[in-house]
Amino acid sequence: MAVQQNKVTRSRRNMRRAHDALVAANPNECPDCGELKRPHHVCPACGHYAGREVVAMTDEVDLDEDDAA
Ligand SMILES: [Zn+2]
Repeated sequence: MAVQQNKVTRSRRNMRRAHDALVAANPNECPDCGELKRPHHVCPACGHYAGREVVAMTDEVDLDEDDAA
């Protein structure tokens, strides 16, 4: 196991951690459906991107379909 040569002081440790904070997500409103979506990503609610539908959306997926043979 590698062993550090010098003690990392509280000051130096905290200076390193000064850049470790998580930044909050910055969602935009989808211009098609108004749902909040990540910028530069396809809208997960309606599948639109840049004004057109790029991912086809189904109405509802029924997982316990009994009539399946
Ligand atoms: Zn949308």
